[in-house]
Amino acid sequence: MFKKILIANRGEIAVRIIRACREMGIETVAVYSTVDKEALHVQMADESICIGTETDNCYTNISRILSAAELTSSEAIHPGFGFLSENSRFAEICRKCNITFIGPSAEVIDKMGNKSNARELMQQANVPVIPGTKKPLNNEQDAREMVEELGYPVMIKAASGGGGRGIRIVRNKDELLNAFSTAKKEAKAFFGDDTLYMEKYLENPRHVEVQILADKYGEVLYLGERDCSIQRRNQKVVEEAPCPVMTEELREKMGQAAVRAAKYVGYENAGTIEFLLDKHNNFYFMEMNTRIQVEHPVTEEIVGMDLIKEQIKIAAGKRLEKTQDDIVLKGHSIECRINAEDPQESFMPCPGKVSGLFIPNGLGVRVDSLLYDGYTIPSNYDSMIAKLIVHGKDREEAINRMKRALGEFVILGVKNNIDFHLDILNNDDFVKGSYDTNFINNQSF
Ligand code: ADP
Ligand code: ADP
Ligand code: MG
Repeated sequence: MFKKILIANRGEIAVRIIRACREMGIETVAVYSTVDKEALHVQMADESICIGTETDNCYTNISRILSAAELTSSEAIHPGFGFLSENSRFAEICRKCNITFIGPSAEVIDKMGNKSNARELMQQANVPVIPGTKKPLNNEQDAREMVEELGYPVMIKAASGGGGRGIRIVRNKDELLNAFSTAKKEAKAFFGDDTLYMEKYLENPRHVEVQILADKYGEVLYLGERDCSIQRRNQKVVEEAPCPVMTEELREKMGQAAVRAAKYVGYENAGTIEFLLDKHNNFYFMEMNTRIQVEHPVTEEIVGMDLIKEQIKIAAGKRLEKTQDDIVLKGHSIECRINAEDPQESFMPCPGKVSGLFIPNGLGVRVDSLLYDGYTIPSNYDSMIAKLIVHGKDREEAINRMKRALGEFVILGVKNNIDFHLDILNNDDFVKGSYDTNFINNQSF
C-alpha cells in the first residue's frame, strides 16, 4: 500500500480523500494556492505545499503539482473531481514520473473524455446511445445537415464538456446558428477545445447513472444507480440512490450495459456511466465520467462501501474483494449540494466570511464539507461548500430526515441555497418521485 498520497484538489473532496487516507494509515500532502492558505484541506493534511496564487490556476498546473509530489516523496496522486481529474496528459506524465495516478490510464481517459468519441465507442460496445452525430461538427454546414437527419429539437454539446457547460438546446432553425457559435465560444473558453457534437434532445428524461468499480485484472462491478435529474442549468442539485422509478430488471440491464462499456475500453478504477432514461424505460448512454463524482456518497450509503478507499486499493494493485452478488442495496440515500449562492439573485455566487455555523448531525446524517466557523470562502473557485447526505430505511424516511437536517443547518454570513433545497424536498412531485430533468425549470420556487 502507498505510504503517502498527494491530493491535487481543494475543497470538500480534498477533505474527503484525506479522511479516507487517514483511516488507511496513509500520509497525505495538500497543495494549495495563497488564497487557500487557511482552507480546511490544508489544515487537515499531514503536509502542505503552496503551489501558486489565486489567479494562476495552480490546481491545474501539472509541473508544480508534480514538483510538490517529488519534493514530498508522494507515491500516488488523487485528482478528486474537476481540475486535472480527466486530463490524460496529467495521467501520462504521472506514469512517466513513476507516480501512481489514482484513476484510469491516460489512454482510457482519452477514449472516454472526448464525449463525441465515446459515443462512437459505446455503439461498438453495443450500448444504446442517444441518436446523434457519428463525428464532431466541423462547421455550421455540418450542423445543418445533422439537424435534417435528426429533426428538432436537438442539443449541441462540447466534446470536452463537463459541469453542464457548453450545452445548448436548439428548438428550431432560427436558433441553430446562434446556438452553434455560442456553444463553440463557451467550449473554447471553459475547456480550451471548441469541438462540438450534436444529439437529439430528449424531452423530459431522467438522468440515471451507474457507478462502477474495475480492478486491474478485468473484474468490473456495478454498484446500483443514482438519480440526478434534479438539475439547474444541466448541473446537478439533488441526487438520490436508488432511483425512485427503478425496477430490478432495469437495474440489471443498465448495470450490465455499464459493465460492458467499462470492459470494452479496458477501464480501471471508479467510474460512472451517465444515461438518460425515458418514460418507456429506454435508456441511452450520455457520457462517462472517468473519475470520482460529487454525488458518490449516496452510493456509499446504500452499498456500505468507501469508494475513495476502493479507488486507492485498486490503484495499488489490489483485487476487488466483493463480487456482484455481494452488492446489496440497503435503504435510501439523498444528497443536497449546498452552495454559497443567492437563489433570489439568479443563483449568483456569494462567497465571504462564515460568521456562524451549525452543522446538522444525528442518526443517518452526514456532511462532507469545507466549512468551519470563521472561514472565508474565496471567490476564485466553485461555489459548492458542503454536501448534506442522509440515509434512511426507505425513501420516505430519507426525505423526512433530509428536511429535518436542512432545518438544523445554519450558515451565517454567506447566502446559500438551504431554503431552496427545502422547497424541493417539500414539493409534492418530488415526494412522489415523479420528476425529470426539467423539474426545477418547471417550478416557480
Ligand atoms: P459530477 O459529474 O461529479 O456530478 P459535476 O458535473 O458537478 O460533477 O462537476 C464536478 C466539478 O468538476 C464541478 O466543479 C465542475 O465545474 C467540474 N468539472 C466537471 N467537468 C469538468 C471539465 N471537463 N472541465 C473542468 N471542470 C469540470
Ligand atoms: P456534462 O458533461 O456537462 O455533465 P452531460 O452530457 O452529462 O454534460 O449533460 C448534462 C445534462 O444535460 C444531463 O444530465 C441532462 O440533464 C442534459 N442533457 C444532456 N444531453 C441531453 C439530451 N440529448 N437530451 C436531453 N437532455 C440532455
Ligand atoms: Mg454529465
